[in-house]
Amino acid sequence: MRTLYRASRIVTLSHPAMGEWILVDGRHVESVGTGDPPEADLTIELPGTTIVPGFIDSHVHLTATGRALMNDDVRAVTSKEGLLDLVRKRSEAGTSPVHLEGFDESNWDRPDLPTRAELDGVGAVPVVLMRADGHISVVSSPVLADVDLAGAEGVETGEDGEPTGRLTREANRRVSVWVESSYERRLVEEFQLQGAGLAASRGVTAVHEMSMDLADLEVLLGHRQRLPVDVSPIPATLSLPESMERGFVAVGGDLPVDGSIGAKTAAFVHPYEDGQELGELYHDDDTLAEFFHAGHNAGLQVGVHAIGDRAIEQVLKTWERVYLALDSRERRHFRARRHRIEHFVLPSADQIERAAMLGLAVSIQPAFDRFWGQGGGLYEERLGPARAMAAHPIRTMLDRGIEVGVGSDSPVTPLDPMLAIAALEGNHEPTQRLTRLEALKLHRVGSARLGHQDVKKGALEPGRHADFAAYDEDPLDVSSTEGLRPVLTVSLGREVFRT
Ligand SMILES: [Zn+2]
Repeated sequence: MRTLYRASRIVTLSHPAMGEWILVDGRHVESVGTGDPPEADLTIELPGTTIVPGFIDSHVHLTATGRALMNDDVRAVTSKEGLLDLVRKRSEAGTSPVHLEGFDESNWDRPDLPTRAELDGVGAVPVVLMRADGHISVVSSPVLADVDLAGAEGVETGEDGEPTGRLTREANRRVSVWVESSYERRLVEEFQLQGAGLAASRGVTAVHEMSMDLADLEVLLGHRQRLPVDVSPIPATLSLPESMERGFVAVGGDLPVDGSIGAKTAAFVHPYEDGQELGELYHDDDTLAEFFHAGHNAGLQVGVHAIGDRAIEQVLKTWERVYLALDSRERRHFRARRHRIEHFVLPSADQIERAAMLGLAVSIQPAFDRFWGQGGGLYEERLGPARAMAAHPIRTMLDRGIEVGVGSDSPVTPLDPMLAIAALEGNHEPTQRLTRLEALKLHRVGSARLGHQDVKKGALEPGRHADFAAYDEDPLDVSSTEGLRPVLTVSLGREVFRT
């Protein structure tokens, strides 16, 4: 089945740079051209539109994205009392456990979180409240009784020695897995479909799924072909056998080496501005070295989440140590593997240089800069103006030759590539800004390279996947891309979204 799409302009991000029609055969692009189009079984006229290659979001949590669509009310909350009201409403409606995710107390007038005692005061229902970045949860007593937290770090205790209900690190992770496993399989599939549907409606045709839980990922793989976007799964596990048995080619992904700036758990060399904390490293050097070394030797692409300069240092030091232990043949293949660091928010100039030397790849989330990196924003409040100013040095990374891909970390920030483009153009630091074309390329070609999909995706040329979106306004010409939405999205030759 050959389908011809005719538009005013087709931006290929390849050579030639522009076309007027694109011929699709099954899952692939057969040709792109100008002038008289070839014969086709079906012709789709899209007059006045611009077709561009589909965006590739290099960092998505699909299940949580789908769930977030049902949690608008949580994000809208502006106080502890507001959260407690929602807990009351949900528990009165018979929901159990009550799972509210997406609050961000850094935007509240008073950033106090509810305590375990206050949650218990609402009733006997198990309650899990989760911060927008997923790095803090607050839980009620029935949750503490039900979840095995033996030996887990991150259980905060009060002056009386009893848990306050506030959990970080391993304790937070175990509670996340526990509450997520309370959803029926059918519902988890529905969340994933909704998350992937949202992606398609935003012109995204492929995502790198940063799975935090293997059970959840099993569900995803069970209906992968039905999803409207192409999914590359990356499990956040240290267990290589589990990953290899399932045929994954990449491992680690969003596996946290430190936490988040919002939760004050991202690890820094110097203390946070508003306290004495240095943040936390979640793994010792040897554990990480063994994981990197074994993963590399197994032929996998290995990734981790690292935000603060101390976490980035641990990751770089560990990779340098692993690299030195490789024989010359393995060293030759090292760069080509494109081992990944997710976020890489506050690297020093020296760290950027060393990442470039090693050939590590970086997955950035430009919307972080938009929401938290601007003057007077969360980074400045937590880290002081000098460090906040140095965050997200994207232009420097590209200049040093680092491979960079672009993602949203949805639902942490919206699954919205046009927002990411605007954020890349409007970096808080003018010398780090990208041009429109650079930004559009990075979100496709750059992300494709991070996923080792650069032969198949990122540009529109013969033999590549038919992944593209059509817009009424030309994304290269509009004054701001913010809010721009496609009228049609095609992923692997399938029409997956249409207005
Ligand atoms: Zn992360």
